[in-house]
Amino acid sequence: MTTIKENYNTIIRQLPGKVKLVAISKTKTDEEIMEVYHCGHRIFGESKAQELVPKYERLPKDIEWHMVGHLQSNKVKYIAPFVTLIHSVDSLKLLKTINKEGKKNHRVIDCLLQMHIAEEETKFGLDYEEISQLLGSEEFKSMQNVRIRGLMCMATFTDDTAQIRREFKQLVEYFKKVKARWFENLDYFNERSMGMSDDFLIAMEEGSTMVRVGSSIFGSR
Ligand SMILES: *Cc1c(COP(=O)(O)O)cnc(C)c1O
Repeated sequence: MTTIKENYNTIIRQLPGKVKLVAISKTKTDEEIMEVYHCGHRIFGESKAQELVPKYERLPKDIEWHMVGHLQSNKVKYIAPFVTLIHSVDSLKLLKTINKEGKKNHRVIDCLLQMHIAEEETKFGLDYEEISQLLGSEEFKSMQNVRIRGLMCMATFTDDTAQIRREFKQLVEYFKKVKARWFENLDYFNERSMGMSDDFLIAMEEGSTMVRVGSSIFGSR
């Protein structure tokens, strides 16, 4: 058995400096998270607001917390005071709520739009048409307390690496289209969150800027 520290160092060695690692700590204990923290790591991600909030409260305040899982509008208020990046915006309604809670907290909350690329029906996310409607809407244009930093996706859960690679390529193509149409001269629109434990190497080859790795660091859940 390898230790969390060894796992973490193995992952870090495989990342080029410019790719950010979000250590996905869902279901993991404070002690396990602190092992990674003591390696010098500060970016952690959770998939449930109800797990994220108590961890934020208990753990060191220099941790940057990312929300990566499906987020219900009624949970936004709990994470709005502190969350660094929400990866999983999948509706205008959710974005409106984030904007409202951002305003209450005197913050601009960074977000990614989650795209549905995978073939599975169950995965959350927007298609290109829905993204166009969202970004083209007057409601979006009036929002002062959210900032869209880029796109996020999850690939299909499959052993077919050619398919996974195709899906990541698709996300990058959509990223370029969205950038050219709505964010051309806005440098902050620069993130492509793609890649998890089983596929982050492929994702980085295809242009990921942010990988979300859980079980390869902490062990399987
Ligand atoms: C759990 C999770 C991950 C990490 O998955 P691993 O396979 O454990 O690396 C990444 N992204 C999201 C959205 C997740 O829910």
